[in-house]
Amino acid sequence: RAKAAGRDKLKVFRPKMLAAAASVMTLENDMRSGLQRDEFFMEYQPVQRSDDGTLTGFEALIRWRHPEKGIIGPDHFIPLAEESGLIVDIGLSALRKSCCEMARWCRRYPGCEELFLAVNLSARQFSQPDLVTCVSGILQDSGLDPRQLKLEITESTIMSNAETALAMMHRLKQIGVQLAIDDFGTGYSSLAYLQKLPVDTLKVDRMFVSAMEEQAGCLEIVRSIIVLANSLQLNTVAEGVENSRQLEMLRNLGCSYVQGFYFHKPLPVAAAELLLNGREPAEAV
Ligand code: C2E
Ligand code: MG
Ligand code: MG
Ligand code: MG
Repeated sequence: RAKAAGRDKLKVFRPKMLAAAASVMTLENDMRSGLQRDEFFMEYQPVQRSDDGTLTGFEALIRWRHPEKGIIGPDHFIPLAEESGLIVDIGLSALRKSCCEMARWCRRYPGCEELFLAVNLSARQFSQPDLVTCVSGILQDSGLDPRQLKLEITESTIMSNAETALAMMHRLKQIGVQLAIDDFGTGYSSLAYLQKLPVDTLKVDRMFVSAMEEQAGCLEIVRSIIVLANSLQLNTVAEGVENSRQLEMLRNLGCSYVQGFYFHKPLPVAAAELLLNGREPAEAV
């Protein structure tokens, strides 16, 4: 009986499942050749002070120029890259590209050495035993000052294997890089645990920022995160700021840094360079 039911089920679902599996395989193969053909590139979203808008750094965000499908954002391929393990190579190439770009900017634009470069690491990347060696190698090759690199790890990555994550964070701090917890508020870290983490920055998840005007609960979450971060002497970055009202609220809550479409979308290299150029019109010859 069970067998018959099972067979019926297969009959109904099989074509769909096959199609889905096939498209996943295609995407995976495309990613593999995309890596070889250098189809991945970075955009850079400015992070600014909430009080006067001063540029303080950039977050590097990966994109894929797919030969047929056009430009694909990370939400559409990072999960599969993560599952297939391709994220390790894709992520290292993203890190290398953005460190080289930032180091080049530092040679070209005065004052750029004061800016940070934030790069995202996914869970799988973060559990690679040779991550520290790879990051050091990339820093050395690019010539970027380790203090300028800020690695972003999500709260859920940390909490999925808290002990290993803590050890890895300490090793990364030892080579001089900064650490940020991304998408903060969406995981389940306890206050006691957070206090033990060697991090410099908390990034308030966009979900809370976009909902805080309408939902009192979200506003309270944002407030608590900022109070918590300030009392632990961590920097706070609010992500996804889209209007002046949100900016005003965040400022009043004591959030030091902001990032979002209200200021800038993630910028292609040329646009980021225009911005860097505009910072020092008199000095930069
Ligand atoms: P994330 O690190 O939380 O990055 C912030 C996301 O919010 C980015 O989406 C950014 O474009 C978007 N964003 C910024 N401001 C606004 C705003 O005002 N409104 C709205 N609606 N969105 C805003 P993106 O570029 O699609 O990246 C999505 C996620 O993909 C990132 O989330 C990060 O987790 C992951 N990712 C991006 N680049 C890399 C990478 O090089 N390596 C790894 N492992 N993951 C990456
Ligand atoms: Mg991030
Ligand atoms: Mg985030
Ligand atoms: Mg995110």
